[in-house]
Amino acid sequence: MTESQAPNNIDQLSTAPPCPVNDTRLRLDRNIAGGILSHPRSRRIAEEIRDLVNDVAWGRAGNDHIPAIRELVEELAMDPNAEEARKLGLQVKADLKDNQEVFESHVQTRNCANGACTRLAPAPCQTACPAGIDVPTYVTLIGQGKYAEAIEIIRRDNPFPWVCGLVCTRPCEYMCVRGRIDTPVSIKSIKAFAAERAFSEGNYANPLKAASNGRKVCIVGAGPAGMTCAYYLSLKGYDVTVIEAMPSAGGMMLTGIPRYRLPHEVIDREAAMLEDLGVKFRFNTVFDVDTTIDRLKKEEGFEAFFIAIGAQRCWDLNIPGEAEFATIKAIHFLRNMALGIRRRPGRRVVIVGGGNVAIDAARSCVRLGCESVTVAYRRSRDEMPADIEEVEQAEEEGVTFSFLTIPKAIVGENGRITGFDCQRARLVAKEGGTRLSPVPIADSDFIIDCDMVIPAIGQRVDDDIYPELKRTRRNTIEVASVSMETRTPGVFSAGDAVLGPATVVEAIGGGKRAAEGIDRYFNGIPQPKMPPVPVRRKRLGCIEVPAAAKMTLKRPEMPHLIPERRKTTFQQVELGLDEHAVQNEARRCLRCDICLRCGKCIAVCRDKMGIDALKLGYFDFDHPVKTDFRKIADRCIGCGACAMNCPNHAMTIKDKDGERILSLCGTILNRQPLVCCEQCGAVMGPRRYLDFVQKRVETVGNDIRVKRDICDNCLREQSALSGAEISTSPKMEE
Ligand SMILES: Cc1cc2nc3c(=O)[nH]c(=O)nc-3n(C[C@H](O)[C@H](O)[C@H](O)COP(=O)(O)OP(=O)(O)OC[C@H]3O[C@@H](n4cnc5c(N)ncnc54)[C@H](O)[C@@H]3O)c2cc1C
Repeated sequence: MTESQAPNNIDQLSTAPPCPVNDTRLRLDRNIAGGILSHPRSRRIAEEIRDLVNDVAWGRAGNDHIPAIRELVEELAMDPNAEEARKLGLQVKADLKDNQEVFESHVQTRNCANGACTRLAPAPCQTACPAGIDVPTYVTLIGQGKYAEAIEIIRRDNPFPWVCGLVCTRPCEYMCVRGRIDTPVSIKSIKAFAAERAFSEGNYANPLKAASNGRKVCIVGAGPAGMTCAYYLSLKGYDVTVIEAMPSAGGMMLTGIPRYRLPHEVIDREAAMLEDLGVKFRFNTVFDVDTTIDRLKKEEGFEAFFIAIGAQRCWDLNIPGEAEFATIKAIHFLRNMALGIRRRPGRRVVIVGGGNVAIDAARSCVRLGCESVTVAYRRSRDEMPADIEEVEQAEEEGVTFSFLTIPKAIVGENGRITGFDCQRARLVAKEGGTRLSPVPIADSDFIIDCDMVIPAIGQRVDDDIYPELKRTRRNTIEVASVSMETRTPGVFSAGDAVLGPATVVEAIGGGKRAAEGIDRYFNGIPQPKMPPVPVRRKRLGCIEVPAAAKMTLKRPEMPHLIPERRKTTFQQVELGLDEHAVQNEARRCLRCDICLRCGKCIAVCRDKMGIDALKLGYFDFDHPVKTDFRKIADRCIGCGACAMNCPNHAMTIKDKDGERILSLCGTILNRQPLVCCEQCGAVMGPRRYLDFVQKRVETVGNDIRVKRDICDNCLREQSALSGAEISTSPKMEE
């Protein structure tokens, strides 16, 4: 199939949501094909515009395409020859004007957010990633053992691949299409392996940065949001200074996440890459106390600010006894530990909350030698926001859970805590609510014996810092969601300060968007209204994997430190995958950046050819059924109709070394020996395919091939003698 044929195929993709570029392309096609443009000159201009728009939709447009389209559209809109041409010109002109950002983003990112422009649709994993990382590309590079290249691809969107390889909440894996066949690809863990390997081999490098532009940007907060913004601005040539209250960089990655999950060396090594780029850090400096925005502007000449202060304040339990007795908030407890203060908070400890912070505090208490550690949570286990793996590991380490437990009071004697007074809860659905709500059960009071209570019920943004900035009703900093600009010109914000307590990768995504917003601010470019489209960083071929291997490879189990050892040490719990497991895991990827699961291959095999060999059940999002790539070979005849109808060259068929090979994104679905012409030796196709053609030929009364394998040309010669008609076979890829 040639590319010029392909746009006709993508018109028929019914599942894709509308995209203005695709709509314009279809509008032009309809007008041209419908013969509405009767004058040859208007028709020629419309065809030229259509070809240029096609290039945009197919990711092959350059910077001159959109200006060229505009010029031609003007010509068409003023065409004196025909009213219809003028009408079409005006419509396309309006399309371009109303959707300028979409057209430009197709050219710049080579991506179509809606997936309507088939070749440019990002894979679900990439779309799900708040930082928009090109997951299929780096997974493929990891599968090829090209770890440094994989890290280079990741760092175009996220400067912290190693950190994220250890603690990311992995939204990509939740969207991984492989999960519909068996289990998602272990994207997070193989990223960690690649980063560690690239570092250990000395191949973890910074990209070249632009020459200095002399403009100064001040960033407040050295968490993932602040550091990401610093990294991308520095690469663009800005002079960046990061102000940080703590003695070192990392934010909650350092002071919140315990080192048994994220060793400090990992943060230090990735943060040091920023210093290598020239980013300056001012530690132990509290913004709005040690320095102010006015001083930074007037005395130091900073022209733009990025406020990435996170959500450092904790919510109180607001129950009797809380003010009277000394409790310690989980965030403060974890911060103390990160700063080296490793004091056991009590002998018997209750942690209140059901999120990851509560679990981190509980598991840290175990490591500090607390005799009993109980997590009290007001909903049930299923409603817990904490990562299930973290919960299971906590249980292995001896943490106990008290579910459906509502705090009532902290009780004690002589200024010391002796218990945590609670009530049992039942869960009820509340009108308009998305989660079940806990309601206290009358006369169900009970006391958990303890000498310390650690509240871990969430964080909020500090409203004393930069109070002039407009806040939302949740007290987070209000920003324009795409540029991350606050209502104060030249001041931007992202991360937990904007979202409330969220995740590392969301902070990274926000920091990256803010760097782009700040760059546009300096250059006087209007801020976009559309959310950014993830960028396809490379177009790699697929790794070849036999169907049997694709099906039998299993997501590897992460080896863990044994629980007994974990109870006494802050040593990293996850021991990491080995190289063999990592490369095999990458081979499980279905390359959804190439196969968009449009189903045309299935339809043509079933409906047009009547074979129905392609049972790719995972194509149906809503009703996934079991897929076994190995079964396809049972029925496939190797006709190639699926490959010819695939709009994205995901399905391929080729003749090689005496075999016809059908592959879907590198997964070899069928290999059949080729039969050669008995007369001239030309390749004719696999036996099953010839039998299939033979059956069709028989219906037109030709029985020459029943006896012998003869190619079309030789058959034609014989048919000329006998006067019979013949059909030709589909052309194969070389
Ligand atoms: C215990 C815990 C466990 C977590 N586990 C995970 C996890 O496993 N995976 C995950 O993805 N996310 C996790 N998170 C969430 C994640 O760490 C945060 O969402 C992320 O760090 C937010 O990044 P940020 O840059 O917006 O803010 P932060 O990381 O909070 O960084 C803000 C920085 O600003 C500094 N700062 C604040 N005020 C000032 C000031 N006035 N002057 C100077 N500096 C200031 C702070 O000291 C801090 O260094 C966890 C959070 C906690 C608390």
